[in-house]
Amino acid sequence: MLKKLVIANRGEIALRILRACRDLGISTVAVHSEPDRSLIHVLLADESVCIGPAPATDSYLNIPAILSAAEVTHADAVHPGYGFLSENANFATCVEESGLIFVGPRAATIEKMGDKVSAIALMSELGVPCVPGSGGPIGDDNATNQQLAEKIGYPILIKAAGGGGGRGMRVVETAQELAVAIATTRTEAAANFANDVVYMEKFLANPRHIEFQVLADGNGKAIHLGERDCSLQRRHQKVLEEAPAPGIDSETRDRVGQLCVSVCERIKYRGAGTFEFLYENGEFYFIEMNTRVQVEHPVTEAITGIDIIKEQLKIAAGEPLTYRQQDIEFRGHAIECRINAEDPVTFIPAPGRIDHYPAPGGPGVRMDSHLYSGYTVPPHYDSMIGKLIVHSEDRPGAVRRMSAALGELIIDGITSNIALHQRILADSRFIDGAVNIHFLDQ
Ligand code: ADP
Repeated sequence: MLKKLVIANRGEIALRILRACRDLGISTVAVHSEPDRSLIHVLLADESVCIGPAPATDSYLNIPAILSAAEVTHADAVHPGYGFLSENANFATCVEESGLIFVGPRAATIEKMGDKVSAIALMSELGVPCVPGSGGPIGDDNATNQQLAEKIGYPILIKAAGGGGGRGMRVVETAQELAVAIATTRTEAAANFANDVVYMEKFLANPRHIEFQVLADGNGKAIHLGERDCSLQRRHQKVLEEAPAPGIDSETRDRVGQLCVSVCERIKYRGAGTFEFLYENGEFYFIEMNTRVQVEHPVTEAITGIDIIKEQLKIAAGEPLTYRQQDIEFRGHAIECRINAEDPVTFIPAPGRIDHYPAPGGPGVRMDSHLYSGYTVPPHYDSMIGKLIVHSEDRPGAVRRMSAALGELIIDGITSNIALHQRILADSRFIDGAVNIHFLDQ
């Protein structure tokens, strides 16, 4: 097993990784920015190293500082969490070249999947259905692009190959808007993702976002842990997730899950990963793969009873998979609400000091959060301050349990999106199940 792990992240996921390490007897090193000295996982970790000032570019994205911290503490592995450097192939390479274990896939896999154009090309080659589109990068020749868009059919979506976090896409309704939309998306992509490659996809009218969780040992063995429905989004970013996805039968789950498994086996994928699909009129269309643990992993943990972070750590240590596909059983229904320090209507971030925070509890209720009374949410990072996860025997039970748990959750002193979640949970269309990705915007 790993001996000492650097947690190269902050907030709830850093605490979550620390807890998994404790379960496995792994020592922990928290690396943190100056304002994050008082984060719970920093206080709980066996060792901690300040790696720079508040801006993420100087701290959580500062590769030399993180590697130095690993060296001076004699750590043997690095867990990148999600966001920050988790899908940075250069970071994975630097970690491994420093003689450390990177908890995640090989750098070459991260690079291939991080570029959506190359990921789509690989998936098509391996027989995974993708959204109809350009199937590759598009150039700047207006006539060629007009023809392509006409063939795909409006509305279309211009997407950045290096995009992420819901940024780097633009809907185009008519031919007149096309050239400007491509040029703007390309300029933004170059500035934000250091990659000006853009491509075209059909903009699906009423899809749901359904994704499959996989675990793979890096030697050609893989399993899937079923799917999650993440259709409730604001600005292409997930707000509430659930597992299983309403209305997906076990035959479909097995078929699509096995397709993901076969890709992992073919490319000798290593670690945890997610295949994201849009689902419309009974068909799945691949959109991208995430080569890291995802924010919404707890809903899968709830219905399978598997600790995904512990599995990531065991795989990184070179252990074979703990479970075979036939060991995986899906029990009940789980829902996760992302709790953000932001206005519930405008989504404007609302950092500040938390005066009073009693966490909800009881059977089937899990609060993954780094909050405590007196903690100040800094303005420098993502506005997510916690995740409330419930598990019950069925979906109506999970909806009721979540409503009750949200009612118990008090975060005094700052504005949060708890009210938005309460509205969603009380909406008859959500209660009926299977809303599409445009529901929240509408
Ligand atoms: P990111 O990497 O930024 O998360 P994704 O490709 O995963 O980008 O897409 C994020 C979300 O954007 C999807 O869950 C969906 O809501 C929307 N989206 C992406 N592609 C399409 C498409 N072709 N048609 C309609 N919506 C899309």
